[in-house]
Amino acid sequence: MTNENIVESAGFAELGISGPLLKTTAGAGFDMPKPIQAGAIPPLLEGRDVLAVAQTGSGKTAAFSLPILTKIIALGTKRLPKTARALILAPTRELAVQIEETIRVLTKGLHVSTALVLGGVSRFSQVKKMAPGVDVLVATPGRLVDLVREGEVSLQETRWLVLDEADRMLDMGFIHDVKRLAKATHRDRQTALFSATMPEEIAALAEGIMKQPVRVEVAPQGTTAAEIKQSVVLARTKQKRKILSTMLADEAMRQVIVFARTKHGADRVTRDLERDGFEAAVIHGNKSQNARQKALNGFRDGSVRILVATDIAARGIDVPGISHVVNFDLPDEAESYVHRIGRTGRNGADGIAITLCDPTESAKLRQVEKIIRMKLPVAADHLDQPDPKPEPRAAMEPANDRNAPRADKRPQGQKPRGNGFGKKLFSGRPADDRPEGRKPSRPKRRGFGGRKPATRAA
Ligand code: AMP
Repeated sequence: MTNENIVESAGFAELGISGPLLKTTAGAGFDMPKPIQAGAIPPLLEGRDVLAVAQTGSGKTAAFSLPILTKIIALGTKRLPKTARALILAPTRELAVQIEETIRVLTKGLHVSTALVLGGVSRFSQVKKMAPGVDVLVATPGRLVDLVREGEVSLQETRWLVLDEADRMLDMGFIHDVKRLAKATHRDRQTALFSATMPEEIAALAEGIMKQPVRVEVAPQGTTAAEIKQSVVLARTKQKRKILSTMLADEAMRQVIVFARTKHGADRVTRDLERDGFEAAVIHGNKSQNARQKALNGFRDGSVRILVATDIAARGIDVPGISHVVNFDLPDEAESYVHRIGRTGRNGADGIAITLCDPTESAKLRQVEKIIRMKLPVAADHLDQPDPKPEPRAAMEPANDRNAPRADKRPQGQKPRGNGFGKKLFSGRPADDRPEGRKPSRPKRRGFGGRKPATRAA
């Protein structure tokens, strides 16, 4: 069923949010509901399951949190040990942290307890936090499966279940864990599933775990925020480093997130940027949770201008001032393009997304254009010019970098020998050079019985 009567002009009170939550919502700076909130809040308050297709940055956290919090507040504060009244599952640690932060803002002074269960950090404090029971548990699936299996968390009293960014959970191989966790919750639960895209597997999952959901769709699948100016720069992989550094020399690129396809690639781009005289932080799945949070905090508070990220790690990053997204490589999955560029142009702000595309990536570019339903304009074509531009920061190249580009030393128009710039930026495919999230398949775990699993990161 589609909820066609989205009441965009109504305030939060008209949508059914009342009492203290109205105050905290206003305190959070949310004056008028966003379309996803106008669409999802009324059916969730009615007790209906909701299947929502919403872009990142659309305001979905408050869309599912406010109705659940309304109901939890009405129940009072009695909780059973180790239980959670509501469970919100998110694909990445960063997104889980962000959701919990939003919920804490929305429940300021309201005696609603929250907990975070994530991999990559100590489980001790999580187990301790869960001991008396909590109102809202925000978790990544991997660690939660472990804690449920070990009896440290019980989902038997969980009557609200939210799957956020469900398509990403699917990509990351969490789908079995998600199904297992859903099964462990209360039979009479209410379920909301939010996803930026609706691949068949997600539709099937929704059918399996939801009861006649109301479908809320605020932007057609694959649509990119209208405010984002998108373009493509045609360039060979070997030229990309130089093009990126030249671009970043422009200070109009105030706050930039650079996406690389692999963890290895992200490290390499960061290293090259540093060699070219830029300060950049990097965030990917091989970094410790502390390092990721530190990089993100620096980016958020403006002390770091450039953040290099892989798709997985960047998921859910909500930094309002990102002026530019640069896709150093095209993603393997076209849907990821939508998520990537959604990091800019948030909350109605303008944003610019530039994609560097090597001829070998042209099939991926076509896929992207298919799902965004538009042809990306070509802002620059470097394919005929192996020498993009003189090195703006040549002085900063290490003296012993014998392979450094010698662009400025060549007569104009003369093509360099060999591969253009001599420097082999991407030499071969390292062993771990697979896109993040493509984990080697691991054995399926059945139910919550059996042996204690080893601790692992989400
Ligand atoms: P989300 O999609 O939940 O990550 O939200 C994206 C951004 O929109 C966050 O920065 C929120 O703080 C902001 N936001 C959510 N709802 C509203 C609202 N009704 N009015 C203004 N900003 C909002």
